[in-house]
Amino acid sequence: MATDKAALGRKYTCFSCGCKFYDLNRELATCPRCEADQADDPNPPMDPALLFRQPRGSRKKKAAEAKAAKAAAAAAKAEAPAKDAAPAKDAEATKG
Ligand SMILES: [Zn+2]
Repeated sequence: MATDKAALGRKYTCFSCGCKFYDLNRELATCPRCEADQADDPNPPMDPALLFRQPRGSRKKKAAEAKAAKAAAAAAKAEAPAKDAAPAKDAEATKG
């Protein structure tokens, strides 16, 4: 099954007529229905194959990144007030 897909090449959705087809690993991807050259697509889609393949792995990565960012933000918040408050108190303490 997977080998069949590889032989078909890249999947396209014709920008002109919406027909879905594979480029059969040819250099030029022309729609079999309306023969529109997909290179002329005014709004080329982001590689759909990549979009469909990424979510599985990136979901975990995104969650981990969000967690790390949250932790970093919390740490920065926790540190910031202490740094601001400490010198003022120390100065007053040494003065008085
Ligand atoms: Zn077409």
